[in-house]
Amino acid sequence: MRRQWVEGLVMAAGLFGAGTRGGAAETWIDLTHPFNADTIFWPTETGFQFDPGNNGPTPKGYYYAANRFTTAEHGGTHLDAPRHFSATGQTTDEIPVDRFVGDAVVVDVTAKCAANPVYEITPDDLVAWEGEHQRQFVDVIVLLKTGWASRWPDRKAYLGTELKGAEGVANLKFPGLGPEAANWLAQQRRVKAIGIDTASIDHGPSTHFLSHQVLCGANIPVIENVAALDAVPATGAFVVALPMKIAGGSGGPVRIIARVTD
Ligand SMILES: [Zn+2]
Repeated sequence: MRRQWVEGLVMAAGLFGAGTRGGAAETWIDLTHPFNADTIFWPTETGFQFDPGNNGPTPKGYYYAANRFTTAEHGGTHLDAPRHFSATGQTTDEIPVDRFVGDAVVVDVTAKCAANPVYEITPDDLVAWEGEHQRQFVDVIVLLKTGWASRWPDRKAYLGTELKGAEGVANLKFPGLGPEAANWLAQQRRVKAIGIDTASIDHGPSTHFLSHQVLCGANIPVIENVAALDAVPATGAFVVALPMKIAGGSGGPVRIIARVTD
């Protein structure tokens, strides 16, 4: 019992800050944007609604807090389940949980996206990354870093527009994963999941969301609006990105964290 208890403490220390593993220092980094009134959602959705309930002392003398929230599936740091763009794709609750846990790689295209705010990542970018790091995109969670997370929560800077509804969708401006690269990952490699630090895996001007169609059609989960990728190295991180288990869902809020070893 005592041994279990001590191990539990060590695990808790690792989860909430720095710890050690095999002698090497390690840190858990939160790659999740907070859910609050500033959380960015797709222009056709209303935002995250938090309704405070009872918060305070009770007549019996103890403190009690219980709130309510309402949210679209697709807003803030969230999952796109394959069902999002595929009639036969897995729903949120059907995705095997091992897809959300594993070694992560970070593909940094920040410079290209700074030069072109609607840049689409190409197969060449991915091939070049593999050559540089001598590693293939197999059994890994691929995190695409465009640099857009630093614009959060400035809606205009992040989405390219503050407009809502169809007009907002027509004016979206941010980078993404090009359909050819999505197809290459789906056909030529075997990834657990793909994350990106923008509002959508397809770039802003997309009208038919081809990368969504390709990845959802291949049952590859996507995580959008990922934060803090500056703190994650190209290789060596371990990621946990569990979504709320919404039965029949097309997505849902995700808490994504990365373990980084110094
Ligand atoms: Zn989504």
